[in-house]
Amino acid sequence: MAVETDCLFCKIVAKEIPAEIVHETDRTLAFRDINPQAPTHVLVITKGHHADAGAVADADEGLADEMLKAARTIARKEGVAEEGYRLVFNTGAAAGQTVFHAHLHVLGGRDLRWPPG
Ligand code: AMP
Ligand code: ZN
Repeated sequence: MAVETDCLFCKIVAKEIPAEIVHETDRTLAFRDINPQAPTHVLVITKGHHADAGAVADADEGLADEMLKAARTIARKEGVAEEGYRLVFNTGAAAGQTVFHAHLHVLGGRDLRWPPG
């Protein structure tokens, strides 16, 4: 499993930086966003280092699917699955990605407008 020593989310996987973990699978970890944009704001990451969603899609068989299934489970646990929630992969700087370790935002618990900024 690839690890980047300078990567914030690799450090969360290694438990070097604390996070409020809400869900875990073999290859994914999910924790609450430190700066939540909605009542439910959880990040689903891969335990191995992949820079963005495209790299996840290029990587191990079924990894992107595992992230999506984790997000669905979290939405149900958080009680937002019925009313609706949003899944976001900011991919690349122009899209607002600031942490270059792939993460899927799970946002819910309020009305979310469209289009996003
Ligand atoms: P993005 O802009 O899509 O790259 O999202 C990065 C997200 O990581 C932002 O929503 C940040 O609030 C969140 N974040 C940054 N540092 C931490 C941390 N230590 N624990 C939890 N979330 C974090
Ligand atoms: Zn990383």
